[in-house]
Amino acid sequence: TSFAESKLPDNVLDCCKTFQKPSPIQSHSWPFLLDGRDLIGIAKTGSGKTLAFGIPAIMHTLKKNKNGKGTRKPTCLVLSPTRELAVQISDVLSEAGEPCGLKTICVYGGSSKRPQINAIRSGVDIVIGTPGRLRDLIDSNELRLSDVSFVVLDEADRMLDMGFEEPVRFILSKTNKVRQMVMFSATWPMEVHKLAQEFMDPNPVKV
Ligand code: AMP
Repeated sequence: TSFAESKLPDNVLDCCKTFQKPSPIQSHSWPFLLDGRDLIGIAKTGSGKTLAFGIPAIMHTLKKNKNGKGTRKPTCLVLSPTRELAVQISDVLSEAGEPCGLKTICVYGGSSKRPQINAIRSGVDIVIGTPGRLRDLIDSNELRLSDVSFVVLDEADRMLDMGFEEPVRFILSKTNKVRQMVMFSATWPMEVHKLAQEFMDPNPVKV
């Protein structure tokens, strides 16, 4: 219920300094996610869900980097159904991650691949992207997800509604087998449930 109680490092909480206290979805999600659990969150935009998964994603990535993962292949991947949402998430995560020394990149279709490829080549920690472009970059061998051990599917229901099930499955199959996974969805239809059953822990926390 307070930022002090979360025991998160100051530089990680830098992005929250204008907020009074964690939002309900944040205070419910953080303890489980920081503990390494898989989590399903039913939440809408406006609930503070980006930092609900974003801060644990940053903590996870910092821990991996400290353990000597030297390559700077990405550790954390966030999938978003639309470019607008991807950019929004990316803004939040880069603001939160930069004080901690993390590099974030956002990739989406309908724009030139070259700058995205150059950014990936220079080394990134957190990738946010839309399914089509992510699949493209994996197919062309520019993006390697073998070190990705923290995955977020944001607006999972919308992602499937928009017909991204196949690329989402493909992308998930390229991440590390040992991974922590978070799914946020506004609704919980059968297709989303199936995806969760297939790719998540048998007993994810539900928030
Ligand atoms: P989101 O649901 O992640 O799109 O966040 C919606 C809005 O809530 C954003 O403008 C955030 O800056 C803001 N926000 C996130 N966390 C908090 C918090 N703990 N207290 C107040 N506002 C917050």
